[in-house]
Amino acid sequence: MMECKESGLPAGEGHLKQTASGTNFVRYELGDLTVIALRDGHVDMPPGRLRQPGDRPFGADLPAQVTLVGGNLRLSVNAFLVIDHGEHVLIDTGAANAWLPTMGLLPDALAEAGVARESIGTVAVTHTHADHVHGLVAADGSDAFPNLRRLLVPQEEVVMFDEYERLSRFRRVRLPFADGFKVSDSITTVAAHGHEAGHTAFEVSGGGGTLLIWGDLVHVPSIQFDRPELTWEFDADQDRARSTRQRMLERVARPGVSVAGAHLDFPGVGLVERAGQAYRFLPL
Ligand SMILES: [Zn+2]
Repeated sequence: MMECKESGLPAGEGHLKQTASGTNFVRYELGDLTVIALRDGHVDMPPGRLRQPGDRPFGADLPAQVTLVGGNLRLSVNAFLVIDHGEHVLIDTGAANAWLPTMGLLPDALAEAGVARESIGTVAVTHTHADHVHGLVAADGSDAFPNLRRLLVPQEEVVMFDEYERLSRFRRVRLPFADGFKVSDSITTVAAHGHEAGHTAFEVSGGGGTLLIWGDLVHVPSIQFDRPELTWEFDADQDRARSTRQRMLERVARPGVSVAGAHLDFPGVGLVERAGQAYRFLPL
């Protein structure tokens, strides 16, 4: 049997296998689960949002490895659909038309992937920032997921969620969750607090491997794997975001574990490996 060089596992075991792709989606298999990376778009942010310890913004001292587009950091905005034996669980929703016109592709991405929006019964959000929740409402004002039965929101952020008047209609299906909550047979929540009070990752287990869908653990992949101590201006608790990132990177840098990030370059899926004291991201 062939061995996978990095992991020592038999080839393919515990790994995501890409089975289809298009402009706005990439489909994978993880054992008998299906995972689809969905492009909502991107958001451009000034590089000063990246913070050095002590909450100091970078200026002229911005390291050359940080890639800029027109002088800005370009963050992909991704969401992920997990199909667990027929149960469709969407993790994060993109921003629809509620923030910038560079986002809102999610409904197109689903259509391109051949997934009917009506099939999605559960939406779970990593946290309640705009680019993760506003896609609940389609650009025309209708429900983006007309058969939504459960909207899973971190319990620490229910109050924040309820402040969005635009999303008030979803309070009837909103279900607060805590660390270790089983979303489905194969998906469990993993508290990753720091970027926001209830920021959460979702661990998907299948085929002898796991995929950690980690939300906003990394905003700037060109440098935060190499220097995980760097934070993001919008991290609600910078120190906690830093220690959570270091802890989670250590957790995933091992055989049979893949990661998926909301702001890693689309499709945002890959492996993490140790590189001395730091880490390296290997996109799939
Ligand atoms: Zn985000």
